[in-house]
Amino acid sequence: MIISMRPHATRDEIKHVCERIEEFGYKVHSIEGEERVVIGVVGVGDVTACLESLEATPGVERAVRISAPYKFVSREFKAEHTVLRINGLEIGGDEFIVTAGPCSVESERQIMETAEGVAAAGARMLRGGAFKPRTSPYDFQGLELEGLKLLRKAKQATGLAIVTEIMSDSDVGMVAEYADVMQVGARNMQNFSLLKSLGGCGRPVLLKRGMSSTIKELLMSAEYVVAHGNPNVLLCERGIRTFETATRNTFDISAVPVLNELTHLPVILDPSHAAGKRSLVPALARAGVAIGADGLIVEVHPNPEKAVSDGAQSLKLEDFRAMMRQLRPYLDLWKEARLAEAAAAV
Ligand code: PEP
Ligand code: MN
Repeated sequence: MIISMRPHATRDEIKHVCERIEEFGYKVHSIEGEERVVIGVVGVGDVTACLESLEATPGVERAVRISAPYKFVSREFKAEHTVLRINGLEIGGDEFIVTAGPCSVESERQIMETAEGVAAAGARMLRGGAFKPRTSPYDFQGLELEGLKLLRKAKQATGLAIVTEIMSDSDVGMVAEYADVMQVGARNMQNFSLLKSLGGCGRPVLLKRGMSSTIKELLMSAEYVVAHGNPNVLLCERGIRTFETATRNTFDISAVPVLNELTHLPVILDPSHAAGKRSLVPALARAGVAIGADGLIVEVHPNPEKAVSDGAQSLKLEDFRAMMRQLRPYLDLWKEARLAEAAAAV
């Protein structure tokens, strides 16, 4: 349930509403806004009776039931698209944000060369894994703290915000010191103890859709992070498993309009992990712009043949530059559409 108070409702009125909510056996989850307070309510009880009673309580403008199982991330809860502010950037606003970088941070030279190359080509954030979720325990597992330090150097040199993966709740504090965005990989989308810890990490969370997860499950996972105190969640479609083997995963770009109907959270696309093959990435990226995603996350490596992970799908720096050039006319249309949407919403 969401209770919107009238503008300038008094403190006593707000307090009384909270007491009524508790009398009905519900919990006040959050109180937001100053001029117009909105109270988020969770729990199990007699919704209809509670709603009717609250609507008649002084100071209440509107009390609505949220029918979706995910509450705070639903469009019912918040009609306007969420804009995340990261290191001076806005995601979900009127700039399409491209994040680029290697699958894994491998060495100082590799990350610096990539960071400088992608920044010059128009990327606004740098990706790079220091903790890698690998299918085989014998594969490269990441440089860990050393990798985080290299990402910090790359940020200092280029100004790019850092997106890096967090795999374990015990590392949240350490990774949050270095990351501007905490990436939860497809394999950890339903690591609920990690999601709960990220509720208090103080950084935006990039939540990737599990390779066998439904959109509803993705939203329930986002709800975990928000319900545990962190409203700054960015969703990412990265391809799902189907019977098709021509691509590494099947790119479900319909996730973008579907999510835009169901949630106010921004949505980006990862054509690299979807395709699994470098040559397919630029076309999928164009589709991502055209379908109205808020951004892309793309793997780029200065020497993909030598990459320790995901070389086959990583663009060379010159491929990335070419892709960014090809995206330009699509980005102009994207911007026009965004501004028209914003104007229509006023
Ligand atoms: C990655 O971004 O390198 C990665 C491991 O992605 P995903 O979790 O989508 O497989
Ligand atoms: Mn990868």
